[in-house]
Amino acid sequence: MRCPKCGHLEDKVIDSRLARSGYVIRRRRSCQQCDNRFTTYEEVVKPSLKVVKRDGRHEELNRKKLGSGIERACEKRPISMEQIEKMVDGIIEEIESEFESEAPSSIIGQKVMDRLEIMDEIAFVRFASVYRRFKDVNQFMNAVKGIIGQR
Ligand SMILES: [Zn+2]
Repeated sequence: MRCPKCGHLEDKVIDSRLARSGYVIRRRRSCQQCDNRFTTYEEVVKPSLKVVKRDGRHEELNRKKLGSGIERACEKRPISMEQIEKMVDGIIEEIESEFESEAPSSIIGQKVMDRLEIMDEIAFVRFASVYRRFKDVNQFMNAVKGIIGQR
């Protein structure tokens, strides 16, 4: 590792310990030329998660896109941007812990619906209508009746 002080490339690790509950290794290094001491951190590189769409195409898990889909459903509903942000955070956290490198878009949609269903019926129905792509009005009405019937 290049010494930040003199630019020399050889150093000696003088201490190595776990940090952040073991997610990170912290190393104290000493430059072999000027004895400057500096610290480096090492952590696992998480590959970015891909979403597998219904037609089999893959795309990056896009935080912004997920957020704007939820925002649209929550338009003029008593749901704050903070609540939406928190929802997106929670969903991404779950997806990252449940899937290694790719997650089906249906699972992500289901997670959004599970949360909206608890938070706001109208937003839930709106999101579900886009997400499930109801073929006609009857199908949509049945879904709505289903929701009302559950209560
Ligand atoms: Zn140095």
